[in-house]
Amino acid sequence: MHELSIAENLVAIVIETAEKEKLSSVTKVSICLGQASQVVPELLETAFRVVVQGTKANDARLETEIIPLKLKCSDCGADYIADEYNFICEFCGSVNIEIVTGMEIFIKSIEGE
Ligand SMILES: [Zn+2]
Repeated sequence: MHELSIAENLVAIVIETAEKEKLSSVTKVSICLGQASQVVPELLETAFRVVVQGTKANDARLETEIIPLKLKCSDCGADYIADEYNFICEFCGSVNIEIVTGMEIFIKSIEGE
C-alpha cells in the first residue's frame, strides 16, 4: 500500500523533529498533499493512525491541505489550475506541459508540547 510507506516516512520525520525540539508529545501534524500525488487523503490518515501508535505522535491530529494541480505550458507560457491530468494546454493546445505544483507531499508544520 502506497499510503503506508508515505505515512512511515512522514512519521519518521515527525518523530525526528519532536526529538530535536524536545517535545514530549506531538499534538498536531499539518501536511500538504498535491492533488495529483496519487495519494488518497483518507487512506493516508488511516495509515498515519497505524504508524503513530506507541510513538510521541500517538494522539496527534493530522491536518491535510490539498495543493491544487497547477500546470504551465512551455509553448505559450500560460499557467492554470487543472482539475485532473490533462496535459494539453487549454489555451494553445500544446502538449508541452510542465507540472508546477500538485505532485508534492511534505510536512508543513508540527505542533507539540
Ligand atoms: Zn499553451
